[in-house]
Amino acid sequence: MSVNQQTHTGPPYGQPQPGYQGYQQPAYGGQPLPGVPHSQYGVYNGPMPGYQQPVPPQGSVRAPSTSGTSLSSGHLGYSPFGQGDVQNGIPASTAPMQRPPASQPFLPGSAPVPVSQTSMLQQYGPPPASVQQLSNHMAGMTIGSTSTSAPPPAGLGYGAPRPPTMPGPPLPVQTAAGPPTSQPNHVSSPPPPPSTLSGPYPGPPMSGLRGPPPPTHPPQPGYQMQQNGSFEQVRGPQTNYGGAYPGTPNYGSQPGPPPPPKRLDPDSIPSPQLNELPPQQKPRHRIDPDAIPSPIQVIEDDRSNRGSEPFVTGVRGQVPPLVTTNFLVKDQGNASPRYIRCTSYNIPCTSDMAKQSQVPLAAVIKPLATLPPDETLPYLVDHGESGPVRCNRCKAYMCPFMQFIEGGRRFQCCFCSCVTEVPPHYFQHLDHTGKRVDFYDRPELSLGSYEFLATVDYCKNNKFPSPPAFIFMIDVSYNAVKSGLVRLICEELKSLLDYLPREGNMEESAIRVGFVTYNKVLHFYNVKSSLAQPQMMVVSDVADMFVPLLDGFLVNVNESRTVIISLLDQIPEMFADTRETETVFGPVIQAGLEALKAAECAGKLFIFHTSLPIAEAPGKLKNRDDKKLINTDKEKTLFQPQTSFYNNLAKDCVAQGCCVDLFLFPNQYLDVATLGIVTYQTGGSIYKYAYFQLETDQDRFLNDLRRDVQKEVGFDAVMRVRTSTGIRATDFFGAFFMSNTTDVEMAGLDCDKTITVEFKHDDKLSEDSGALLQCALLYTSCAGQRRLRIHNLSLNCCTQLADLYRNCETDTLINYLAKYAYRGVLNSPVKTVRDALINQCAQILACYRKNCASPSSAGQLILPECMKLLPVYLNCVLKSDVLQPGLEVTTDDRAYIRQLVTSMDVAETNVFFYPRLLPVTKADVDSDSLPAAIRNSEERLSKGDIYLLENGLNIFVWVGVNVQQGLIQNLFGVSSFSQISSTLNTLPVLENPFSKKVRSIIDMLQVQRSRYMKLIIVKQEDKLEMLFKQFLVEDKSLTGGASYVDFLCHMHKEIRQLLS
Ligand SMILES: [Zn+2]
Repeated sequence: MSVNQQTHTGPPYGQPQPGYQGYQQPAYGGQPLPGVPHSQYGVYNGPMPGYQQPVPPQGSVRAPSTSGTSLSSGHLGYSPFGQGDVQNGIPASTAPMQRPPASQPFLPGSAPVPVSQTSMLQQYGPPPASVQQLSNHMAGMTIGSTSTSAPPPAGLGYGAPRPPTMPGPPLPVQTAAGPPTSQPNHVSSPPPPPSTLSGPYPGPPMSGLRGPPPPTHPPQPGYQMQQNGSFEQVRGPQTNYGGAYPGTPNYGSQPGPPPPPKRLDPDSIPSPQLNELPPQQKPRHRIDPDAIPSPIQVIEDDRSNRGSEPFVTGVRGQVPPLVTTNFLVKDQGNASPRYIRCTSYNIPCTSDMAKQSQVPLAAVIKPLATLPPDETLPYLVDHGESGPVRCNRCKAYMCPFMQFIEGGRRFQCCFCSCVTEVPPHYFQHLDHTGKRVDFYDRPELSLGSYEFLATVDYCKNNKFPSPPAFIFMIDVSYNAVKSGLVRLICEELKSLLDYLPREGNMEESAIRVGFVTYNKVLHFYNVKSSLAQPQMMVVSDVADMFVPLLDGFLVNVNESRTVIISLLDQIPEMFADTRETETVFGPVIQAGLEALKAAECAGKLFIFHTSLPIAEAPGKLKNRDDKKLINTDKEKTLFQPQTSFYNNLAKDCVAQGCCVDLFLFPNQYLDVATLGIVTYQTGGSIYKYAYFQLETDQDRFLNDLRRDVQKEVGFDAVMRVRTSTGIRATDFFGAFFMSNTTDVEMAGLDCDKTITVEFKHDDKLSEDSGALLQCALLYTSCAGQRRLRIHNLSLNCCTQLADLYRNCETDTLINYLAKYAYRGVLNSPVKTVRDALINQCAQILACYRKNCASPSSAGQLILPECMKLLPVYLNCVLKSDVLQPGLEVTTDDRAYIRQLVTSMDVAETNVFFYPRLLPVTKADVDSDSLPAAIRNSEERLSKGDIYLLENGLNIFVWVGVNVQQGLIQNLFGVSSFSQISSTLNTLPVLENPFSKKVRSIIDMLQVQRSRYMKLIIVKQEDKLEMLFKQFLVEDKSLTGGASYVDFLCHMHKEIRQLLS
């Protein structure tokens, strides 16, 4: 806890939360319980009884329908129009072209959707410049070219590992090579050689030291350097820091002050006291893994220390509990850590200090974060016609830190010091302490987070927005149809459309919906409520996309329900026999964008796409995947888009408020780096299901889709972060677009998206006034209401580096560093990025050592308490697939992960980089609690136990070879280990306590994550275990990633070099 904490003017601790009568509390989304965290998704929220997941036919192409819809057989269809407007499987209308598409009659009793000739619809867009004869082209297509061969077995959520191709034995890792010279990549860098070690140690030279440690010493707690450059881990009972850490009797002459008995402050890891050991016993020094900082211990300590009391935000610069701790937040003037977390809550007063420490000053902001049910959503404040009260100069919004003066007639801005008149309608008297008497009645004066109702001045073109629209755009090419995907999506949408986001108590969602299907041409559907049947309009001129209908394309679900259901029933039939394998992609987004433009609203496109868009069209791509580029200077090109087309398109989308969510189902490379650009820059989400198979992947996909459709989202959003004098926001990371240096623009921003903002000094700060942040997000709610969400946070400032290090948050630091590095790979060789990360962290730790730690032997590694996990977590970032690809990781996987991480919050990056490993056989079946997690190392696994490992994208169930037969029977319903099928992607539902407990733990984990995790069963010594082992991040990785112990040694060496 910082010594210079100060209370601000907010309500004191324990003060009851004001009631704010008269302020509405907006509710978000279509969720019956606003603010409920993800949990409702697991069970598909909403009161719909009997809602079931449709189980469409699996895996194969449907047989042609025998009903009247058989007219849709593809080969019949082409001839009448022959202009690309009809193709495989699309029922061709036999009616002649008619001008207004809406007047196209639909044949009663016959499913085919009438086709309108697009070129007739010139009023909606430019006429097609060239209409191609597609039928010939189509006829030339062969299904054989689709490469849909043999779907692979279970893989990672984002990848497609193929166990059969896994190499047998683990690759040897070159960590024990000769002494490193300068700063090589840590992976190939061995631990410090003896010569490096000997220098800094006080006492007798140890160059002659050789031989094992004396028998009386092992296993020594603590940290011992290995002379010959290799390490071995000493097994021992898991011990607490208190016991195993420095200060233990074994470490007799430890320099410096004795550490406190319980906590490590400073957290010092003793280095080997080599001089005390007999020379002949030196060579096999060992590091006890139990004696190096344990993430599990830190997490557990924080839980027990901070989990029981609410986190009250009234105090400036308070470091919140860790993201892994369950705690309640009470807003008393600063934004909840669910909205903003900082790398440090105590900022150096000067730029020089900040540079010296190398600690990045950053805030991870999640403006629309979901709150637990027992926390209060931001109140909605209406300042009337003149809009929110703001500072005249810097335009900061009214907040708890503004100072009212002159009897309340003016206020001085806490950000820029400018004095502004209080508008007459906002005037209020001050009490004897200078506080407005309505202080507790106004959220914007007493709370850290609240919303303002925006006036028309805050709207595009000075016009209040229309409610947003959702457009579902379904790839109906051969792969999509054959896998059963098209049918699955259509079935699901029938029910899901009843769960569109709703505002507060509104009866129904204001969101309108539209439908498009596509392969190499686009099919628009008129689903106007007055129609008996939906109508299809085909646009084959994809070079100049336009929307062939306005009226009837975007509709209210309830009004058009019958027509929509009919359409969703027909789509799978219409394309059942398609042979079209090629797709377009750019025109699909363009079509959605044009539709929103025409409707003058913002919205979201849900695109379900299967393949590299190689059909002739704008945004056409080629397969440029090349794994040989890995570890070369050209590796960065794998992360860059292959064309600027999508960047330009993204810009147009942002201008319109068109957010793009992308669901990808690739069977091969489809260039996520390029296809994902629009999603990324519009604030959308990307999901990837490689080798999608209905039976194994449908649950995951449907859960993701449901959550994605239902979640709270704002549109046409602009975020600006204001700061008090002395610092300013200089850099931004996340899924957004920026057209200037201050405004973060997002076509859509949902409750899961995070923006990380970095700050730099532009002047001195003062300890007295501290530093303030105000994040203002202007957005359109799902009902079309324009609002401003404001989050305020006050931080301390320090003149002593020790205060900085005492108030850091390593999880947030890692979130920032990962995003920084993941952006770096776009422009620099991956090795350069990794080396820079290591160097920065070494500087951070060296600065602490030099300026803050108690004097001690230079041979000791001393880590600041708040950063003692920095090395282990940093190593996980370095070993992640983006910076060091694993064996089976594809280029698309890496691009996908890169994009995902960029929008992750701190909790997500925490579990993604250091997965949670739970011994479920140790779980108490009678309790609701989770078993205590263990460290991610193979040697922590017992052959007789079963474990769960989750990282936010996957859940592994690891089964040891010696697990009792009874447990296997209870969990898998089979009688022996050998009978367990590793192709299961769900656990059987068995009526026994153990099965129930494990399944309930899995459910619990699923609802905590923003994506549905893929379940993978791993049997010990089975092939899939290789995959699993990549997630045991404290161990050496198969592709050369250092073990935690090795990396810690490497960091130690780096630090010592910086200090010498
Ligand atoms: Zn100001």
